[in-house]
Amino acid sequence: MSTMTPPLTFKSYFSNIWTAVRTVFKGLTITTRYIWAEKPVTIEYPEVREVLPENSRSRLYNDVENCIACNQCATACPVDCIYIASNRRDKEAPKIKTKDGTPIRLDLTQYVIDTSLCCYCGLCTVVCPTECLTHTTDYEFSQYTLDSMKYDYLEDDIRAWRDRIVK
Ligand code: SF4
Ligand code: SF4
Repeated sequence: MSTMTPPLTFKSYFSNIWTAVRTVFKGLTITTRYIWAEKPVTIEYPEVREVLPENSRSRLYNDVENCIACNQCATACPVDCIYIASNRRDKEAPKIKTKDGTPIRLDLTQYVIDTSLCCYCGLCTVVCPTECLTHTTDYEFSQYTLDSMKYDYLEDDIRAWRDRIVK
């Protein structure tokens, strides 16, 4: 079935012109408002960097001097991406404690998080009894290979990163 276009009357001709002018003007009004009145919502990264809220769950950091190797974070992790190894401290070794006074009975020999698997759920930080494992606000940690997304918190480069990000 074919539909017929109604004939263009004198009235509808000028009505169409008026609609075109009105909608163009409306669009330009919005554009002008964003140019002159509204603050921009974009930033010129990397010259300007977004500051995330303190409670954002971004790159994980373990302050290993205060880690007691209790394994609770690894147990809580839903994707099993935390790898911990430790040795029992020598009985004759000097007694040491974390900053909150918890005795350190195990020597941490490995603390690795595979951040390529991490879903940033935060469960590992919630269960940490000494609060040494925390999320930072750092979001600039992309890597070229999956392997380099495994962060070994006993390595010096992680400490250098910590000094940059943890104030
Ligand atoms: S944030 Fe979640 S997924 Fe990532 S290491 Fe912690 S518990 Fe595992
Ligand atoms: S829960 Fe905290 S103290 Fe225990 S092993 Fe994990 S990071 Fe270390």
